[in-house]
Amino acid sequence: MTNEDISKIKELLEGKKKIVIVPHKGPDGDAMGSTLALKILLEGLGHYVNLIAPNDYPNFLKWMPYEKETLLYDRDTEKCEKIIAEADVIFTLDFNHLSRAGDMYKPLQEATAAFVMIDHHQQPDDYADVTYSDVTMCSTCQMVYHFIENIGLAQKITPQIATCLYTGIMTDTGSFRYRSTTSLTHRVIADLIEKGADNTSIHENVFDTSSYGQLQLLGCALQNLRVVEGLRTAYITLSQEELDRHNFKKGDTEGFVNYGLSLEGIVFAAIFIENEAEKIVKISFRSKGTFSVNEFARRYFEGGGHTNAAGGKSDLSLQETVERFISILPTYKTNLAL
Ligand code: 5GP
Ligand code: MN
Repeated sequence: MTNEDISKIKELLEGKKKIVIVPHKGPDGDAMGSTLALKILLEGLGHYVNLIAPNDYPNFLKWMPYEKETLLYDRDTEKCEKIIAEADVIFTLDFNHLSRAGDMYKPLQEATAAFVMIDHHQQPDDYADVTYSDVTMCSTCQMVYHFIENIGLAQKITPQIATCLYTGIMTDTGSFRYRSTTSLTHRVIADLIEKGADNTSIHENVFDTSSYGQLQLLGCALQNLRVVEGLRTAYITLSQEELDRHNFKKGDTEGFVNYGLSLEGIVFAAIFIENEAEKIVKISFRSKGTFSVNEFARRYFEGGGHTNAAGGKSDLSLQETVERFISILPTYKTNLAL
């Protein structure tokens, strides 16, 4: 953060303010961890704070401190629109473009509040009055930690805030293994443990709470895993029928895409998940090394993200989407073939 950003933030937070905090649609551990941590901090300073998520978040996050106070825009639209319209300051966390807030895009665009963006995704948009963007950061949670440090409030990090930030750093780094995990990340994590984050119970709450159906769905996904010969690519499909058969709930497929990358020699993995209600196929991409799934998702599947983790969607059928994907791959022969 620049000194100018820091003074602007201090100015925005003078007195008691009406504050709204927003994660991206389909909030993940980093989105919920960073927004909850900021909410707890700002409420502790005496501000009036609402965390409004565009839609619901997965069950494996439904133990986090104060998560029950989260408002869901798709369930409580009118109330949320009123709160957004009356806000003095709106923090948008873990996304780089207002369209990532889904249908909340419109009320956010019409809001008169000052905007603060804290985010680590590539190609950030310029809608905010203060943009704290750093694409080298492993997670928005680590950025919120530095944000709190920068505005001189590190001593206000409670065990609850530490727990939220630890959770998001852990989930966005694949439990501290991705390249974006630095020695600084580990120093931040060490400090969060000292400030009260209980690492063992956080890991158990997130990873050891699978339902039977969820593990059966993983079995189904692994049965559907295919390798594209000669292009070091693997992909998984899940149809709506397969999801229904295993009693699918939001978040149940989290991490499935990584199994493709765990195959020896594979550097590009995808999962295609049919969503009949939204009439789309939701896609997650992962890569190892320099092949940019951010570029790939932006160019072909209306998405984006990071170099090694991105998402997108397709309006074609599941089968047509996969056929299109396979037909695009040879374009990247120089990157993907050995
Ligand atoms: P995931 O595959 O876990 O849903 O997302 C991987 C990364 O890509 C995350 O950082 C997420 O924010 C981003 N991402 C996922 N879906 C989309 C999308 O449809 N559009 C954009 N711009 N980014 C996405
Ligand atoms: Mn993130």
